[in-house]
Formats: sequence, C-alpha cells, structure tokens
Amino acid sequence: MLAALKDIRKLNLQQLQDVLKLWHEPAFRAAQIYEWLWQKHITQFEDMRNIPKLLRQKLQATFVIQAVQIHETQCSHDGTLKCAMRLFDNYVVESVLIPEGPRMTACISSQVGCSLTCAFCATGKLKRMRNLEADEIFDQVALVNEEALRVYKKKLSNIVFMGMGEPLLNYKAVIEAISKICSPQGMGISPQRITVSTAGVQKMIKQLADESLKVHLALSLHAATDEKRNTVMPINETNSVTALKSALQYYIKTSGRRPTLEYVMLHGFNDQPEDARDLIAFARGLKTKINLIEYNPVAETGFTASSRNRMHAFAAQLQEQGLICTIRRSRGKDIDAACGQLANRNALAQPEYK
Ligand code: SAH
Repeated sequence: MLAALKDIRKLNLQQLQDVLKLWHEPAFRAAQIYEWLWQKHITQFEDMRNIPKLLRQKLQATFVIQAVQIHETQCSHDGTLKCAMRLFDNYVVESVLIPEGPRMTACISSQVGCSLTCAFCATGKLKRMRNLEADEIFDQVALVNEEALRVYKKKLSNIVFMGMGEPLLNYKAVIEAISKICSPQGMGISPQRITVSTAGVQKMIKQLADESLKVHLALSLHAATDEKRNTVMPINETNSVTALKSALQYYIKTSGRRPTLEYVMLHGFNDQPEDARDLIAFARGLKTKINLIEYNPVAETGFTASSRNRMHAFAAQLQEQGLICTIRRSRGKDIDAACGQLANRNALAQPEYK
C-alpha cells in the first residue's frame, strides 16, 4: 500500500503548487509545505503545524515523506562528528562534520558504496548498491547542519563531496542537490563553498565546467603517471592522466577557477623524489593547488602512511618549482571518519553489502 504512494519530496515547488491548485487550496500553502519539508526537515505530515488538519490528512493519503534520518552520531576526540544516515530503504551512508577554526565543513556521500575499487580506500571495498537521490544528498547536508547547530551552535560554512561514492558518476542528482543547497529556499550556501571531489571522470569534469553553478573541483590524482595510477585506481584505464590534464585545462579555462589536486601520500608507493618530479610535470602549466593528504590506514590494503618528514620533503620539492602545496592533516581517524575510511563499520547490519 505505502509503496504505491509517491514521495512528496520528489516534487519541486512548481509541481507542489500544481497539486495544491488542483485541490483548490490557497497558493501560499505550497510554500509552507515546501518549507516544512526542506527547511524544517520534518518527517511526518502531522508535524506541519500551520497546515489545516484536513489538508494534512489529504497529503498523508496521497504521499509519503522518504526523508533521511540520523541513525547514530559518533564524536571523535578532535571534535569531528560522524553520522550514520539511514535511507528509506534501510541502506546507510555516512556523513561527517569537521569543525576547523571558524569553518564547519560537511563531508557528504553521493552513492551507497562505490563502484571504483581504489586500492587504498575503505569505501572501495563496498559494492556500489545504488546512487543517492538529490533529496537524500540534500538531507545529509541539512542534518549535518542541524548537528553543527546542536553541538557547536554554528551553521555549516563549507561542503565537500568527499564521503562515500563518486559524485561525478551520480552527476544529475549531485547537481540538483547542489542547486537546492545554494538556493535561498534551500540553505542559501554559496557554490564557492562547495567542493566536488572526483577520482577523475574526464567527460563529467568538462560538463561541470560548463554548469552555471560554479562549484570548486578537486581531482584525486594520487599518482601522476598512467603506469602507477593504473595500479591503484582502475578508473585510470579509461580516464588517463593525459585525458584528465586536458579536462582540467578545459575546466580552468571555462570556469576561471583553480582546481585542487589531491595526493594521498602512500609510503614507498608515490612519495619518492621521482614521484614528485612526475607530479611537477603533470601540474606544469595548470593553475592548480596541491593538497598532500596524510593516508588514513585501511586494513588489508597493504598501504601505510608516509612519514611526516617525507611529506615535508615532498612538499618542499613541489614548492621549489613554484607550485602551491599544502599538507592536510587527517581528522576523525579514531572513529573511522577520516577520508577513505567510511565503510559503515558501526552502522546497521546491511546484508546487501556483502
Ligand atoms: N570518489 C571521490 C570522493 C570520495 S574520496 C574521489 O575519489 O575524489 C575523498 C578523497 O579521499 C579522495 O581523494 C580519496 O582518494 C581519498 N582517500 C581515499 N582513501 C583514503 C585514505 N585511506 N586516506 C586518505 N585519503 C583517502
């Protein structure tokens, strides 16, 4: 019975207005309902307090609200929060809140699991079960914002798509969610405070460059030659280093923005002086910034983190060549909330994942 009802959150404001017009309701009701759904984030029609009871009942008989709910929040000793988010079909994805000085950054998932099997990443060990819907992506942001307000009394300032999944393989939903996040009826966050991180889908990087919403782009490079990158990131076989460089050139030219290159430092694999030389050659002529990321150990990958000294020497080698480069410390490691550690370890049993 329930399954036959449509999720009201699949309607945009215009479609909601059309339904209410058909029901001979005053026009302002649509905006009220929309606000309950998207700003107050209620999960039951009966909570829509300024909507007359009869209309609430009619809504309930016609629609369901398939909102995301927080199943569990864990707190790291460094203040990072990890939220296990339960979806309507009982899958769980994880979202992270990273407080950092004046910033409150949400790290958001775009898929249930991931299809890319990057050799160093914990999420890569889960099967990709499905894409998230735009409203589920938006919900994560709204819920992490509520956590930020509850725990730190501050609103979200930044959003990164660096949680589970590959955002550019769920392109349409990610863009739709971002427009809602940026719109005044959504959360009014500037697209300049949003970063989409990709393992490298050249076609979609170009498409992102052409979007009117100018979000920030990060490319997870991690190795600057095909030979090396192929061994850890199978996506490189169809999106070569050269193809990615030309996609970045297009992105820079079209959007006028400076993308970030992410480079996770893996001991003995990509952290030697010759690797830095390959990275310098890749970055030459590209207006980018480079983030050197501390590796968060993931069991059974065989990888370990580079030493601090090696990271500093690597950074110095890049900086000598005039590249902009920052070392990023890991956050939330103790609760498996750091980059590449999201694997629903403490979440609900999800037999489908196995
Ligand atoms: N699929 C997207 C976004 C998710 S991962 C992407 O690949 O960019 C976010 C970042 O964390 C990526 O740069 C990813 O390569 C990196 N990462 C994965 N595993 C990691 C780990 N164990 N330690 C540190 N960073 C990791």
